[in-house]
Amino acid sequence: MAHPPSPTASSTDGPSGGHRLDVMVSPGDEQAIVDELHSVVTGLRARLTWLKQGGIDAAPAPIPRPARPRPSAPSPPVGVGKLDPAAVPAHAAARDPRASLTAPPREPAYDSGPRDSDDAAAIARAAVESSSRLATRSPSAAPKAPVRKAASDAPALSSRPSSEVVYPELQAVPSGADGLRVIREFIGDCRRCNLCHGRNQIVFGDGNPTPWLAFVGEGPGADEDRTGLPFVGAAGELLSKMIKAMGEHALKLGFPELAEQLSRERVYIANVVKCRPPGNRVPEADEIAACGGFIRAQLTALSPRVIVALGRTPTQFLLANSAPLGRLRGQFGDWQGVPVMPTYHPAYLLRTPSAKAQVWDDLKLVILRLVEQLSASPTGFVPPPHERNP
Ligand code: URA
Repeated sequence: MAHPPSPTASSTDGPSGGHRLDVMVSPGDEQAIVDELHSVVTGLRARLTWLKQGGIDAAPAPIPRPARPRPSAPSPPVGVGKLDPAAVPAHAAARDPRASLTAPPREPAYDSGPRDSDDAAAIARAAVESSSRLATRSPSAAPKAPVRKAASDAPALSSRPSSEVVYPELQAVPSGADGLRVIREFIGDCRRCNLCHGRNQIVFGDGNPTPWLAFVGEGPGADEDRTGLPFVGAAGELLSKMIKAMGEHALKLGFPELAEQLSRERVYIANVVKCRPPGNRVPEADEIAACGGFIRAQLTALSPRVIVALGRTPTQFLLANSAPLGRLRGQFGDWQGVPVMPTYHPAYLLRTPSAKAQVWDDLKLVILRLVEQLSASPTGFVPPPHERNP
């Protein structure tokens, strides 16, 4: 007697389909199906656990779909059907902050795939809303994203190496342009370390004295030594493109006020050492020790919302952390309360274009951090310390 059609039979069963599983598949296939079901259930369980940790115990009801023959597989755990991301239209998902929690995020929500700018902005805003909601929850309730080993786990130096020269004159500089002027005058025609012998000119720094974003490089190269300006050679051209791309991205996400600040003219760029090391070698510890007080004072005067450290030297210097850059990049560190994003140096990218994707990921995190700050107050940014009333 023919068996009744089984709902587990697929449409590829052929004209005589509708056989029971036990007569349809070989034992090996059956094991494969069991394994697959097992991995589906494991995945669903992991998703439910993740959602619960995030405090999500309900989700949008599924959009009714045309009736289709449903398999008579075991019912999914309660609620799983409601969490099917495919059941939530993209627009609804973008505007529902919970939508960013329907699957464990691998990247910020607005990184995935091309979207029109409205959608991207909505998604970005939803991501910000959801991240501020999560920030107000108790730490134990927040979903635990997969974490890389924290930068702070790496061998840490004290925040300022004991060998670093402390300049009392630079400990309380004014903010903004006035402060930069004081620091530049203090540096004068510097002869404090051996780099002075090979330089043509001191490369102090360049850009907006009240930037939202500051970039810190290692030290001037030949072009910078010739012009007196930071990052004007090939690496500098690439840096300009990176900054421009950041501005365009912010605009695409719907944050024109941020986009305006992400241009070469509106950021500030400086180096750890102000004079060109011979042959573009890495600056020596005693050179960094002599010069380090200047970039510290500059950053204090600038009071940027975020700092990007370009390469190993500024990263290890600002974070006082001797871990390799490959381990530090891509996660925010801290310099005097200012978030620092370490990433690869543009000169490295010229030699290793395959690393550009990682740097772009890092810069998108910087944009997200700036967006979060923008959203922290309904009127815009919380003013930086030097603009606040005492
Ligand atoms: N590399 C740097 O680190 N700084 C510059 O100014 C130029 C190249």
